Amino acid sequence: MKQKNVTQYSCDFCSKKLFRKPVMIRHESECGNNPDNFSKCIQCEFCNKEQRNFTIDSFDGNFTERETIFNVYYCSKIKRMIYSTKAKKLIDKYPNVFEEQIPMLKKCKHYKPNYDKL
Ligand SMILES: [Zn+2]
Repeated sequence: MKQKNVTQYSCDFCSKKLFRKPVMIRHESECGNNPDNFSKCIQCEFCNKEQRNFTIDSFDGNFTERETIFNVYYCSKIKRMIYSTKAKKLIDKYPNVFEEQIPMLKKCKHYKPNYDKL
């Protein structure tokens, strides 16, 4: 029997565990539960949650295109779709959904709190 003692790193913000320190450092900097990554956009007057149709590639033996509805955030001030840190992990899976989207800003000069959303 072989026994190996390894150092395991756990994220301070979520339950993720990794064996490689540099990878964990990067994960924590991007972790959706890290307060540094919270954007105020979701609480902002100009941010609206909408449903939009996207054509995505899916693979079921063959590559096919299909229409899917995604929830997106739309900023009516900058007139762009914006995505949260938590959505980042979906970029690789659905690249064309994020093509027209930009990340939510941590600080935004247009931020206007909407107390109904808080
Ligand atoms: Zn994490």
